Amino acid sequence: MTHTVRRHRWIVLTLVAAAGLAALVAVNSARVQAQEGGRPAGSTYTGQAFTFTQVVPGVYHAVGTGALAVGCNASVIVNADDVMVVDTNLSPGAAWALREELKALTPKPVRYVVNTHWHWDHAHGNQLYGPDVTVIGHEYTRAKLAAGDSMRGRSYEMFITTGLPARIADLTVRIAAAPAADTAALETQLAVARTQLAGSMGLVPTPPTLTFTDHLTLTRGGREIRLLYLGRAHTGGDIVVFLPKERLVITGDLLVEGTSYIGDGFTAEWPATLEKLRALDFDVTLPGHGRVFRGKAKIDHFQAYLRDFRQQAEALHRAGVPAEAAAAKIDLRKHGVNYPALTTPGVLWHGVARVYEELEGKAR
Ligand SMILES: [Zn+2]
Repeated sequence: MTHTVRRHRWIVLTLVAAAGLAALVAVNSARVQAQEGGRPAGSTYTGQAFTFTQVVPGVYHAVGTGALAVGCNASVIVNADDVMVVDTNLSPGAAWALREELKALTPKPVRYVVNTHWHWDHAHGNQLYGPDVTVIGHEYTRAKLAAGDSMRGRSYEMFITTGLPARIADLTVRIAAAPAADTAALETQLAVARTQLAGSMGLVPTPPTLTFTDHLTLTRGGREIRLLYLGRAHTGGDIVVFLPKERLVITGDLLVEGTSYIGDGFTAEWPATLEKLRALDFDVTLPGHGRVFRGKAKIDHFQAYLRDFRQQAEALHRAGVPAEAAAAKIDLRKHGVNYPALTTPGVLWHGVARVYEELEGKAR
């Protein structure tokens, strides 16, 4: 039904376009120039924005250097004729930087982009990619991006809407107060924050153009790329990219080096989803945050952390403690042996609020 309507509209558009072909060609070439030649807002930086580590032949983990705010790690899969980029970072500017720097690795064009999930720091670079690139994601990811959910909510508020201007104001005050000889590092941080703010202006969340709900396999040259939905976890639509021959998996934020953000998660189901991840035959993990790691021990570590988090939050919910107050009481220091950052009691309240939403049937 929808398809027929769309096709009809396309025919009408084509007829309109044919009537004003010269004008259309002029507009199109201007748009292509802007995409290929011009740097989008938020792409001003010096040096390298990414470090590319080749994990197995043709597969790279791209991690931000700090010269530009990029959000998540990206992964790059160079195939026989084309390139797949997994996650597009936090803005078209950051995605532009990745695409530019990729040219030092391969002359092949990016033809596929994957969003592991809908979060702003993984999907807001989608806009950079034109119609010659297929953007692939879970149906849930498409729905969240199409609804504009990636530009509101706890995380976006904390890091961008209020967080970014506050950070710029704070750095400005600190630079004014610091001795002249000590301002260089702060000046760099300020420039990076301002560039990030510029990159977030005029940003239009752009949903995937190819979606699935269970699995999707691409064969590119000799490489098999399996995109798998294993269940709800960090969001309602996380997918992993599994290369069976290479025994490698790209996990987005389903499993990261440290503890993953819980604020949009499904904590009751996440441990079981990790169990399905464990069932895949892989050795190397390229996470959405942190460094590459080997083996499956981190699955156990994060399952234990999640179950403990959930159990403590549930007890506080039963006791009627509001989420923010409960967050200060939750103590996960016993997991410090696996997560050295856990040195004090208290957690980010977002995760507790999320568990409360789950318990109250409000998690979406
Ligand atoms: Zn995320």
